[in-house]
Amino acid sequence: MTRAYIGLGSNLDNPRDQVLEAFRELAQEEGIRLLARSSLYLSEPMGPQDQPEYINAVAAIETPLEPLVLLEILQAIEKKHARKRECHWGPRTLDLDLLLYGDERILHPDLTVPHPGIAERSFVLLPLREIAPGLSIEGLGSVDELLEKLGNPVLEVVRDV
Ligand code: ADP
Ligand code: MG
Repeated sequence: MTRAYIGLGSNLDNPRDQVLEAFRELAQEEGIRLLARSSLYLSEPMGPQDQPEYINAVAAIETPLEPLVLLEILQAIEKKHARKRECHWGPRTLDLDLLLYGDERILHPDLTVPHPGIAERSFVLLPLREIAPGLSIEGLGSVDELLEKLGNPVLEVVRDV
């Protein structure tokens, strides 16, 4: 069994519901045990600014599945949410990223782990710290240190009830 972290993001078609539904879908997958889910964080889009704000969150899971199999499941869930890939960093109904897979470093044409954006993204680090306080990322340092390097950013947390 491996502890892994999944990043969730949406900025289209009621993002809050997209992310909450994705949590449920993850929990229902055979081979995925949902250990924790973060609050929902509101963040400004990266890239083109003429698109809605994002809802971001992180899930902690435990799984016996190999990383590439896990990635396939994440992509199947993205597909169910009718994700449109119109432009890089453009609006999307659901984006699921495999952030961490145990302490493994993976450099595969379809999968880079730890996810390359982690260290720069407050919308990943803040929810990650919420559900995994004290977590250290092999080669990058602790989540606290990474947030400090970003100037201890703050993001609004959205009510999800
Ligand atoms: P991003 O998430 O960077 O905004 P996309 O979701 O459009 O961009 O990128 C999807 C592609 O990224 C997929 O083809 C997938 O193979 C690749 N990929 C590489 N590493 C990862 C990862 N850790 N998690 C999810 N997808 C990844
Ligand atoms: Mg992605």
